[in-house]
Formats: sequence, C-alpha cells, structure tokens
Amino acid sequence: MGQLRKVLVANRGEIALRIMRTCKELGIRTVAVYSEADRQSAHVRYADEACCLGPAPSRESYLAIGRVLDAAMQHGADAVHPGYGFLSENAEFAARCEEAGLTFIGPPARAIAIMGDKTRARMLMAQAGVPIVPGTPDAVESLEEAAAIADGIGYPVITKAAAGGGGKGMRLVQSPSELAHAMALAQSEAQSSFGDGRVFIEKYLVKPRHVEVQVLMDSHGGAVHLYERECSIQRRHQKVIEEAPSAIVTPGLRQRMTDAALKAAHACGYIGAGTVEFLLDRDQHFYFMEMNTRLQVEHPVTEWITGLDLVAEQIRVARGERLAFVQSDLAMRGHAIECRVYAEDAASGFLPDAGLLIRHAPCSGLGVRADAAFDGPGEVSIHYDPMIAKVSTWGRTREEARRRMLRALKDYDIAGVKTTIPFCIRVMESEAFRRGELSTHFVNDHAALATSRPAGLESARAAAIAAVLGRPYDRPTEARLPAVQPSRSWQRRRTY
Ligand code: ADP
Repeated sequence: MGQLRKVLVANRGEIALRIMRTCKELGIRTVAVYSEADRQSAHVRYADEACCLGPAPSRESYLAIGRVLDAAMQHGADAVHPGYGFLSENAEFAARCEEAGLTFIGPPARAIAIMGDKTRARMLMAQAGVPIVPGTPDAVESLEEAAAIADGIGYPVITKAAAGGGGKGMRLVQSPSELAHAMALAQSEAQSSFGDGRVFIEKYLVKPRHVEVQVLMDSHGGAVHLYERECSIQRRHQKVIEEAPSAIVTPGLRQRMTDAALKAAHACGYIGAGTVEFLLDRDQHFYFMEMNTRLQVEHPVTEWITGLDLVAEQIRVARGERLAFVQSDLAMRGHAIECRVYAEDAASGFLPDAGLLIRHAPCSGLGVRADAAFDGPGEVSIHYDPMIAKVSTWGRTREEARRRMLRALKDYDIAGVKTTIPFCIRVMESEAFRRGELSTHFVNDHAALATSRPAGLESARAAAIAAVLGRPYDRPTEARLPAVQPSRSWQRRRTY
C-alpha cells in the first residue's frame, strides 16, 4: 500500500488504454503486457514500458499468472490492474499478486472467491436478506433432484454453472421433457469451460430487465453506490447497449435496489469498485443475479452521470485512502448511453468477423466519448474478444443522449470488418428504445433491427476508401480482404 509509482496493466485493448490514461493523469508510470499477436497494438505503444508475455493464445499470455508476475517483477511495478476479463476475477491471481508484494487494484481475493462461485454467492445473499431468483441454494446432484426442484419452482427454469460467467452452462428448460438433455449439456459445458461441472437451477423470469448497481467501498468502512445501469439489450445473454440511469427505475425502487447492492457488497467484505447485478420483473421485484468483482465494460455511463473517474477511485482505494465523499455528496446528472462496437455481423446472429480494419477514426464532439482499442487501422484478432470500441454519449435528458448517440454512430468512420454499428443505429432509431420499453429479450423481440440490411454505412465508406486507394469498388471489404472463418476459439470466447 501507500505510494503507487508504476502499475502493470494485465490486459489489452480499450480497457488497457483506458486504465493507462488515468495512470498518466495521476503521474503513475505504466507497464503494458502483450502477446505476440498484439505486438503492434495501441496499448503497447501508449504505455511507458512494455513486456511480451508469450504466444497469442490467452492461456500462454494474458492468462499465464506466472508470466504476468514475472513481467511485474522485471519492470519494477508495484501494483497490477487486471481490467475486466482475463485474470480480473481470478482469486488465485489476486492472492499471488499480494504474496509477491504487488498491490492488486481490485477487491480482496476472498471476496472474488465468494462471488465467483454463484451457488456460494446465492447462499450468502439469502442469509444477508438480499432477494435471489427462486431456485436451488446449492448445485444439483442428480436428475431426480433437478426434476423435483424444477417442479417445485415451476417451469420455465434455467440451468447455470456454479463457476459460471459468459453465459456458459445456461440452458433454458421450458418443460420436464427437456430437463435431462439441458442438464447434461449444461454440466458438460461447465466442465469444459471451468473444469467444474456443478450446475444449479433457477426460475426463468419472463422478459426481465437487467439492472445493476455500481458500488464503491474503501478499506476504512466508507461505502457508496453510484446509482444503476440498465443493460437489458443483449445478444446471447451478453450486453451490447447500456444506459444510466435506467429509464424506468423510480426513486423509491432505486433506494431499495441500491440498499440491497450495498448489503450484498458488505456481506462479502468487499473493497473497491464492484457491480451487483439484478433481474427486475414487471412488478418491480428485483432479484440478485451475481456480483462482478471488477471494473465493468459499461462503467463509462456511470462516469458520465457522476463525474467520477472509476479507475482513479480504484487506485485511491488500493493505496489505502479513504473515499473523498459520502453518499449525500453525490448526485446523478443527466443521462448516458453506451453502444458497444463489436466486429460482429448482426444479420448472421452476431457472428464474429475478424480481419483488417482498413480505416478507423472514432467519433468525437460534445458529450461523446469513444474508448477504442485502436488508434488507427489495425487488425481484429481471432484470438480475443472482438470488441473494437465503446461509444458513450451524455445528454441532459435521455432523448438528448439518444440523439447524440445517433449522430456519433453515424460519424464513426470504420471499414474492413462488419460491426454492430448499423444494428446500434437501428436500435437508437427504434420506437421501442425511445419509449424505454426494454427487456433482455429486446433483440429477439425486434429481430428486424439485427437482420435488416439498409444501404450500409460501412459499404458507403468502404466505397469511398476504395476510390481513394484507387481500387475498383465491388462488394466492399469482405470481397477484398481474405475471408476469415470464425475459429472455435471465437465461438468459445467470453464477453464481459
Ligand atoms: P453470466 O455470468 O454467465 O454472464 P448472468 O447470470 O450474469 O450470466 O446472466 C446473464 C444474462 O442471462 C442476464 O442478464 C439475463 O439476460 C439472463 N438471465 C440470467 N438468469 C436469468 C433468469 N433466472 N431468468 C431470466 N433471464 C436470466
């Protein structure tokens, strides 16, 4: 604890850059780590120092605990920021950093371990009086037990991996006849993804909304919430558009949800920035789903409405400082929306699309923030999550933020791979989004938003670029660039 002079950022892409920017503002030196596939990446160039971890596959580079610790030692770092994904929710990594004398910029290893096991977390929440989705308190041992439990809570139910994350092990079960197959699939997916085949069962809520609360706690008992974010617009149970505050959370509901979130965080001895995720049903009942013990992808919308820098707060807490404010010092101002720009083809079920970004110039302007992984043309690697950037906008009202987002997405200059930008534009233009009529089924309920192919922005831009490059324009980027088949590692990739 005490002074932090040099931070190793154990991550890549936009989040590595985002963390390093704050370090720079705080006068802290940065060490980037990278795999051989990322040698030319923007985060490597932005850092004060950089260290190659090994080959492209994550397990030989970004997930190799020993190599990351060696890099920190070699470069004389005194702290490690894990970002999101990779080692950020690995309790062993947090513990080994501390053993090596490095400050882990994140919660205590024990809190990570408790919340990383969904069944353990559910039991703790139930004891603490935080409402949980009805279901089994513990992993299910046999099919007979599963059938009895599912009968008890009533179909539909959903299976989940105890060691879960990234939607792994999640299977919707509509009726008793589907249970055996779903359990077998969920167990084998859990085993292959996490080396832990334990599965539990929950009630499947009908078209809930995903609403989560950001919390921030110091090591002296200081604790605040930073309001909620709504993350209901998802594909494959993974977020793609988020906003803060939620369009439907009333002050009374906000009070109850933020109280529950702080209770959840206290129950596991939390320190640092964390997120308590809830499902909210149509009757405004909410249920604890999980706690993410790290910085979230969508944290910029909270930064917009609070004016706080969450990475700076994480660093101050890690230094052992007290929060500089109490709850009553904070206020929520305006409205923020985030759209994730993934290299994915929305029209083909959001299939990843790897390849060269022949042009990349993110949008800017008043109330617009682009957190991008690239600072110019580059390559979207097949080895990692295909997120290119996050665009977030702020407005005094939700409508102002929405209009600004539309403008920003249309200004985003990108060509080479298919992206989620056209999909996000159509969502922003939709009547349902304008009215704030959201649920986790939004993408399915409005399938045309993903599948329709209007005169593509990207095609128009690619045509213009082709003209500049002096090449004939036929079908733009896909035709000219080598076709890249999504590999198995893409299909198995985790998103956050
Ligand atoms: P993971 O950690 O694997 O990403 P989560 O538990 O966070 O999984 O759930 C991800 C998403 O799956 C939620 O945002 C929601 O859309 C859906 N989901 C999870 N549990 C339920 C449930 N019990 N009922 C309905 N939808 C659910």
